Amino acid sequence: MQVHEKRRDLVANVAALKRDQKTVGFVPTMGALHKGHLALVERAIAENDIVVTSIFVNPTQFNNSEDLVNYPRTLESDVKLLSELKSNDIIVFAPSPKEVYGDQMSSINYNFGGLENEMEGKFRPGHFDGVGTVLKHLFTIVSPTRAYFGEKDFQQLQIVRKLVEIEKMPVQIIGCPIYREDSGLALSSRNKRLNEKQLKASPLIYKILKQAKKDFGTKSAVKLNEWVSLQLKKNEELKLEYFEIAKVSDLKSIKRKQKDTKYRAFIAVFAGDIRLIDNIALN
Ligand code: AMP
Repeated sequence: MQVHEKRRDLVANVAALKRDQKTVGFVPTMGALHKGHLALVERAIAENDIVVTSIFVNPTQFNNSEDLVNYPRTLESDVKLLSELKSNDIIVFAPSPKEVYGDQMSSINYNFGGLENEMEGKFRPGHFDGVGTVLKHLFTIVSPTRAYFGEKDFQQLQIVRKLVEIEKMPVQIIGCPIYREDSGLALSSRNKRLNEKQLKASPLIYKILKQAKKDFGTKSAVKLNEWVSLQLKKNEELKLEYFEIAKVSDLKSIKRKQKDTKYRAFIAVFAGDIRLIDNIALN
């Protein structure tokens, strides 16, 4: 397995492979890899000749500087985990910010047709501009055939689809299912920071989503919102930031359901200063 830190090395490596008509799968990550990331890499290996996995904690997508400082950085064990997949077809790209951004580390101001103003966009100002900008740079460097994203960050997935449309980038975006602990907790690099009590409380998040899905046919969105707020008020470890039932197409939250429309429920909670998000398809 090769690990490149320099942009020019990665570009040269991929260019040579593409000259041989190889397809390139790309899995962008911020490292602190877990089984959810590895599932994306395995899918990419199955569907492409080679796979580039980037490990880059992107400063421009953090709206909270403490979160950026506290974000786990575990490059050595990440590389080990990827090497345990025993594939000769993985290339790791672990650049410094300068390799990605050059001398100017700033975000492009994107209009994602309003997707950027909902949920995560409301609570994390500038976040999706940072995500869009880093992916524009990374897609340019890696020039992948296909890129793989988790439904764990469903809003991000929809925004990336929009990004490649706006930037006219010839890459196919593939969404992958959420990987969970047996407890139901969606795997996340931030879970590493949960203490014992928080970890014990955390399965409630998915339990709530599953119950919301069950009740979606019979209860109104307003009633479900009230019920979710109550469940979290009763819990000492978790604090609700938002719960929304939204249309999949535009991610706008709804009060009333319409026929023939796809919905998802989205939730963000804090366990101490650790922010956890999750979502579920409702119909
Ligand atoms: P991150 O390193 O958190 O930026 O995530 C990198 C990619 O892995 C993103 O496309 C995430 O949506 C995806 N991902 C993170 N956690 C999970 C999970 N539990 N299941 C599936 N995909 C995930």
